[in-house]
Amino acid sequence: MVTAKARAVDGPDKSFYETEIQRRDLDINDILIEIKFSGICHSDIHTAHGEWGPVNYPLVPGHEIAGIVTEVGSNVSKYKVGDRVGVGCMVDSCGECKNCQKGEEQYCLKGNVPTYAGVDKYGEPTQGGYATHIVVTEDFVVRIPDNIELDAAAPLLCAGITTYSPLNHWGAGPGKKVAIVGMGGLGHMAVKIASAMGAEVTVLSQTLSKKEDGLEFGAKEYYAMSDPETFSKLAGTFDLIINTVSAKIDMDAYFSLLTLDGTLVNVGAPAEPLAVNVFSLIGHRRSFAGSMIGGIRETQEMLDFCAEHNIAPKIEVISADRIDEAYERVLASDVKYRFVIDISTM
Ligand code: NAP
Ligand code: ZN
Repeated sequence: MVTAKARAVDGPDKSFYETEIQRRDLDINDILIEIKFSGICHSDIHTAHGEWGPVNYPLVPGHEIAGIVTEVGSNVSKYKVGDRVGVGCMVDSCGECKNCQKGEEQYCLKGNVPTYAGVDKYGEPTQGGYATHIVVTEDFVVRIPDNIELDAAAPLLCAGITTYSPLNHWGAGPGKKVAIVGMGGLGHMAVKIASAMGAEVTVLSQTLSKKEDGLEFGAKEYYAMSDPETFSKLAGTFDLIINTVSAKIDMDAYFSLLTLDGTLVNVGAPAEPLAVNVFSLIGHRRSFAGSMIGGIRETQEMLDFCAEHNIAPKIEVISADRIDEAYERVLASDVKYRFVIDISTM
């Protein structure tokens, strides 16, 4: 067993503290990864605060993991010691159901094993990437392309794939008008990826304070949701809207921005239910959909796409003793655009 240094939290209103956790002995298909950088996703905050339901504390969050392979099991064939690798939001799945067989392990019919706050096949609670090491079966590890720095690679493992997957699935590309609602961690990646796919991208943010950045990330237009004229001006405009907002918003107002047959995909995951007036959908044969991260094959495809198009998140690297402060800033929408923990400070 490997003892990893980690940062854990013991309850919804508690602060992070230094601790040690045990990582399991390597099974034949397992890889031991020395974590170098770990991103802070808003999902870490929802979970740590118990907003999505009861959590078994102590909790070590973190599902945007970038590091180096330091040991491999006897049967491992895809990776060797020294490889640059990543781990995202899940660390296992049944591998046999029709969704796993299709490479959509995130939708495993028996439930995927989340990187933290889950239970693995040995019956042990999973603990995430705010730690120096992790052991993962090789099928849930991806390769980080050489031209992506490890600190910038980390957020791609959740924010990158969560936005790439629906953009890919709903055909963002030339001739498509795509709106991204909320420009935080996920939102800013969505802007970069959708523009690289060739779509015409508009950002809908609470204010215009990040407009310059949005245009630099590739958006053509940038509007403030706080301006009521935004909604009348953009009515019936978009083929695809990706909503990344972590809080409850007025969905009907956003449906009104979809064109005939347009789709709004929710990736934001607020704890409270979102109300829908069906007439907002019926009127123009609009769809309301959801999407959860992406499969392992698609995650590798996303990393290779980002490498090819020189796409990386804009990050703020912090030391491990600043996690509580980073959470507060994310909650205040004061993040540009992803906090990444330097694990050497663990
Ligand atoms: P984030 O960095 O905090 O970004 C969310 C953005 O939403 C904020 O930057 C802000 O953008 C906007 N926003 C926040 N509160 C708002 C409010 N009350 N009204 C309107 N806009 C508001 O969070 P994230 O890490 O990108 O995650 C976003 C959401 O996606 C979270 O709920 C997270 O749990 C979820 N998530 C889902 C998946 C999935 O698989 N579906 C994966 C990862 C994360 P502006 O400042 O531009 O207004
Ligand atoms: Zn995440």
